[in-house]
Amino acid sequence: MTIPSWVPIREELRDEQPYGAPQIDVPVRLNTNENPYGPSAEAAADIAAAVQAAALELNRYPDREAWALREGLAAYLGHGLTADRVWAANGSNEIMQQLLQAFGGPGRTALSFAPTYSMYPEYARNTHTRWVAGRRREDFAIDIPAAVALMEAERPDVVFLTSPNNPTGTALAAGELRAVLDAARGIVVVDEAYAEFRRAGTPTALELLADHPRLVVTRTMSKAFALAGGRLGYLAADAAIVDALRIVRLPYHLSAVTQATALGALRHTGQLLAQVDALRTTRDETAAWLAERGYDVAASDANFVLFGHFADRHAVWEGLVDRGVLIREVGPPGWMRVSIGTPDEMQAFRDALQEVDPR
Ligand code: PMP
Repeated sequence: MTIPSWVPIREELRDEQPYGAPQIDVPVRLNTNENPYGPSAEAAADIAAAVQAAALELNRYPDREAWALREGLAAYLGHGLTADRVWAANGSNEIMQQLLQAFGGPGRTALSFAPTYSMYPEYARNTHTRWVAGRRREDFAIDIPAAVALMEAERPDVVFLTSPNNPTGTALAAGELRAVLDAARGIVVVDEAYAEFRRAGTPTALELLADHPRLVVTRTMSKAFALAGGRLGYLAADAAIVDALRIVRLPYHLSAVTQATALGALRHTGQLLAQVDALRTTRDETAAWLAERGYDVAASDANFVLFGHFADRHAVWEGLVDRGVLIREVGPPGWMRVSIGTPDEMQAFRDALQEVDPR
């Protein structure tokens, strides 16, 4: 796609493509790290009742500060957090964009370590923030001396760290996080979209918030909470950082329907998160099966597994689609990512992979 010349789009955007994984209608969709288990009928009914109540007041603007929701999210996160230290938006995608609107911008620099979430450079582009990508090591860990040297050279205003990282699934060790925090002069964003899936003993950056006022930890209800369709992302940070984001947010950015949905989901936290343990187990089984078959498998703390290597990954991807299984062609050349589905879906994935790529 190219935007035609009569459309006066910014020139640097003319040949860009809209971001997104292919939405192909196949029986087994394991390509966007969704939770395969939807809300229970009871949770869905409660969410629907909350939305019904909100609908009766849709003539009014919603609570601009989403205060009740932020209180609920703070209680869920724990770590002594309060609503003034939590902020919410339409997916953590919007959170990241707001962060760059407030802390990036012309003359400013954002930095991350690739391979990582491919939306970060797009937020940078959209906010006219200079983008710098360092490299992760071969095992996808952060190379601490190289990272510190790059930060000293580039002096980023915002550093994005992703833990567990997408698409690799690897989590940061406490030492990696502390080294980056010590070297940073600006904001450090730790994107913990997949935090609930991490293995026992893997740290969360929430523990470091109290000692690091420029640390921001982002989360989402899209993954573990099985609420990707609800579009609710959030962050925890110092209250002054939250105030900075309130400057750039659109008025009433979180609709009354979104707030009611997310609050309804929070009332059913137990049920919605109940499958996280099962997904972790299935992830570990999937990783072990792939390794037994001779694939390289990145250590995953998330609800997906990155595996390789394929001489022609596109051909394998197509072969899987032909068999009704959709995974993601993403990551360094030769690697692919499979999201963790139900045991039946993973069986379908294994069967299809064995047919397409017999080893
Ligand atoms: N961060 C990471 C690392 C992700 O993988 C994703 C979703 N794929 C997001 C943020 C955004 O998620 P959402 O906007 O649904 O909260």
